[in-house]
Amino acid sequence: MDSSTASSLTNTLLTLAEDLQKQVFPAGALYVVATPIGNLADISVRALKVLAMADAVACEDTRNTGQLLSRYGLSKELFAAHQHNEREVAQKIVERLKSGERIALVSDAGTPAVSDPGARIVDAVLQAELTVIPIAGASAAIAALSSSGFLSDQFHFVGFLPSKEKQRGTVLSSLITSTATLVFYEAPHRITETIAALARAFGPDRRLVLARELSKLFEQIHRCPLSEAEAWLAADAHRQRGEFVLLVEGASAAPADELEEAKRLLEILLESCSVSQAAALAARITGQKKNALYQLALSMSQENL
Ligand code: SAM
Repeated sequence: MDSSTASSLTNTLLTLAEDLQKQVFPAGALYVVATPIGNLADISVRALKVLAMADAVACEDTRNTGQLLSRYGLSKELFAAHQHNEREVAQKIVERLKSGERIALVSDAGTPAVSDPGARIVDAVLQAELTVIPIAGASAAIAALSSSGFLSDQFHFVGFLPSKEKQRGTVLSSLITSTATLVFYEAPHRITETIAALARAFGPDRRLVLARELSKLFEQIHRCPLSEAEAWLAADAHRQRGEFVLLVEGASAAPADELEEAKRLLEILLESCSVSQAAALAARITGQKKNALYQLALSMSQENL
């Protein structure tokens, strides 16, 4: 960035900060503040203002948030609000809000209450008829969706899949016919296993986006059919590191009557055939794709377990 762009940017930030002085930030409110998912510059000016004026910050991990705030030149009373103490801490927050304090709620990264603690606190504050104000910002799911090229007029946020194979299979089976883009979170130690499970559930042709280390130095957004994802990950050990959002493109919408016909047929066939026999017969009878029918039959047979 040249120096004139840098100084114009600084001026813009100063103007925004001045404008914020005129905005009202009610007392006695809970501010749900999104923080960056990697890149510190992704904080909003409004988030900085709220964090600066808050009487205290409820955070998942006081050490992480303490470090984050110090990077922004802020030092605040911090207290822990994590999945093990959320209910108790919610009452404490309600009391403090009633006394007119402004409390900010943050998680370790991204938007609180999205695959993170926070929802119980927000619920308790709303139940007490107090004000909750979201301070919008980064969320890994939305960042990944926006750069996937998949349709996102409908998406289904799944978050982390269960780690046990059977439960994971049940969740995935229930999603096979969904036409919405599916959004998963995953940690590096389970990425290979999860990709394999996605390929088994959705078949080789469905497209996947692996959005890795978003907003960080080694950000990667890779799109490929599920059949190629395992090989892509295995090709370079670095690709299995870091944080991941996985997006699976929604099923192509079969005309509703075609789907209904296939379901009725499979229901009958599954009474006396295995999943793969039922799918093969249904494919011969209807002319529909065997793989799609197999996934449908699998989800129907698991629903009936
Ligand atoms: N509340 C956060 C949000 O708004 O996205 C999500 C918190 S959840 C505990 C953490 C998971 O989010 C990670 O395991 C990963 O799946 C995803 N995630 C967070 N930061 C990410 C990043 N920079 N790149 C890719 N995925 C990320």
